[in-house]
Amino acid sequence: MKYVSTRGRRDLGGFSEVLLMGLAPDGGLAMPERIPTFSADELEGLRGLDYADLAYAVMRPYIDDIPESDLRALLRATYHPDVFHSADITPLTPLGDSGLFLLELSNGPSLAFKDIAMQFLGHVFEYVLERRGERLNILGATSGDTGSAAEYAMRGKARVNVFMLSPHGRMSAFQQAQMFSLDEPNVFNIAVRGVFDDCQDLVKEVNADAEFKARYTIGAVNSINWARVLAQAVYYFKAYLALNLPAGQPMDFSVPSGNFGNVFAGYLAKQMGLPIGQLAVASNENDVLHEFFSTGVYRVRRSAQVAQTSSPSMDIGKASNFERYLYLIAGADGVQTRAWWAEVGGSRPVDLRGTAHWEAVRASGLVGGRSSHAERLETIRRADERFGRLIDPHTADGLRVGEQYARAGVPMVCLETALPAKFEATVQEAVGRTPPRPQRFKGIEALPRHFTLLDNDAAALKAFVAGKLGQTLQATP
Ligand SMILES: *Cc1c(COP(=O)(O)O)cnc(C)c1O
Repeated sequence: MKYVSTRGRRDLGGFSEVLLMGLAPDGGLAMPERIPTFSADELEGLRGLDYADLAYAVMRPYIDDIPESDLRALLRATYHPDVFHSADITPLTPLGDSGLFLLELSNGPSLAFKDIAMQFLGHVFEYVLERRGERLNILGATSGDTGSAAEYAMRGKARVNVFMLSPHGRMSAFQQAQMFSLDEPNVFNIAVRGVFDDCQDLVKEVNADAEFKARYTIGAVNSINWARVLAQAVYYFKAYLALNLPAGQPMDFSVPSGNFGNVFAGYLAKQMGLPIGQLAVASNENDVLHEFFSTGVYRVRRSAQVAQTSSPSMDIGKASNFERYLYLIAGADGVQTRAWWAEVGGSRPVDLRGTAHWEAVRASGLVGGRSSHAERLETIRRADERFGRLIDPHTADGLRVGEQYARAGVPMVCLETALPAKFEATVQEAVGRTPPRPQRFKGIEALPRHFTLLDNDAAALKAFVAGKLGQTLQATP
């Protein structure tokens, strides 16, 4: 499979190249040059496969530069019941007889759905870097879930180090403990005296120094990484097989959304032939996506306009993977997509009202919804009372929008994107009790913390990275 850019370049290489690439050289995102499809018979043929073999069947057409036995071994190591604490990896649970279902994506090491793709990234990075004789130093900024998922995926991996910036004192106690309790020679937690935006700006500033970036092989694991999107498409197939629907009968999904990575994976699965009817894009108070799907206007927000909410992993002002969706809506037209993004970059909104592209959006099955803090609490409370099921604030945003779009006779699968234990305070506010914690996280707030406190200063950050890598390079010639 060859990969192309959403902004028109056609020479991005194969899977291993785009795996290690951030943005494409023209500023776009990597996409496969075509989307392979499954016929109804081929979908039937997936029945009975366990998660790792299903992942192989779904991902193989996009990854043809890794030998079959190696890719199977990587997927088997990634999707292991011991890592995801479930034989099914992503179990599907009905919510009473409501026609609603929860697809559980949060039983992995960091208790959020990002583990599903990030664990694969850890294994495949190690493999590809080994083959190429290269190293990668991941520099990232996190306000919570991404950082812990990345650290739990990369810990102990050869040829990879992680430098993760977080805003000092601003994550939840649990999120801090999850990251800072890790004591790994290749994981460096950096608490920055500043807010999340400062951390992101520092990462950008270091990346803008081309010489430093090349010398220390700085890379990223952000949500635009194609391998993350691809790995996420698998659980939509898994849900379809678990529902055991008669051939051709559709199912709907509702997806708590921020950077549009998760729901785009669902759209990819639909393009591959999975009988998905609606894909409901659930937002919180930061409703740039809801606005687009209800009006046809995509108007990004500046970071100062992004509200801090009780579903913080969805607090975004622009959805980085959305470009991939519009690229497909344009019929894989890189010239059109580049024109649209020039508008967004120049901070004019993309306005599809009254165009054939808007008709294509309406026909694509994607619909939008949003919820507020009060609605989130009410949904958590209601799911607890009606279904005996405690859910986290992000999952609640998805469930609420899922209920709104549910159709008689069509299963509505709501994606559970984090466990309630990760967001204790909001869940406590909703139901008046603390959610249960998996045994392995009991008491982690009391463990020793491993982090370095730095000023909001790119020079200090570079000196820290260079110092650490100097030591590592000496230790491993
Ligand atoms: C990252 C995250 C989301 C948003 O997912 P996107 O792929 O960015 O749309 C939703 N919920 C939780 C808990 C997350 O960590």
